[in-house]
Amino acid sequence: MARYVGAVCRMCRRSGQKLFLKGDRCFTPKCSVEKRPKPPGMQFRRRPRISDRGMQLREKQKARYTYGMLERQFRRIFAEAERQAGVTGDNLVMLLERRLDNIVYRLGFADSRSQARQLVQHGHITLNDRKTDVPSALVKEGDTIGWRKESAKSEYYKQLAQTIEAKTVPDWLSLDKKKLVGQMVSLPTPEDIEATFDGKTIVEHYSR
Ligand code: SF4
Repeated sequence: MARYVGAVCRMCRRSGQKLFLKGDRCFTPKCSVEKRPKPPGMQFRRRPRISDRGMQLREKQKARYTYGMLERQFRRIFAEAERQAGVTGDNLVMLLERRLDNIVYRLGFADSRSQARQLVQHGHITLNDRKTDVPSALVKEGDTIGWRKESAKSEYYKQLAQTIEAKTVPDWLSLDKKKLVGQMVSLPTPEDIEATFDGKTIVEHYSR
């Protein structure tokens, strides 16, 4: 599956806010948004005023960057959000959160969503005890997420088993820290998620 492979910190600087794409580094003074808050290529100029259209585009890009998706994939998930009953912006946030790579990240199995995606693509993760290497797979209420037996022998897994104790998971997930098996105990709600973007503005972007 194609994905963006450029410098991810540029995305945060372009968006004007932290999108937390690089794991632990995002919480240190090394974060590029803290060191160089202006957009890339604009060190000596003021951030220009942004139109309503520009604002809508920016919100969509923030969501896309946060979940590491290409435009085509993002449009597909937006179309699914539109098909569902309820508020499209909220549906979108919930669908994005239910992606397998995001759940692996939320469970603390990876420091960033891009690392989580790699774990899934390399076949380390199981969904309901079956190996699943599709990062966009949608996790359902009651589904369990764990590790393949072979992967549990890896150095990464052993280190994770030692550090997982300090991690916390959101209320809509549960985690057995001994077995490193997580479960989606309920579907996430918009209130559960501190989104880095505004779903309603994204709907306006696609409704033009
Ligand atoms: Fe880079 Fe993370 Fe800072 Fe974004 S939040 S600029 S990804 S270090």
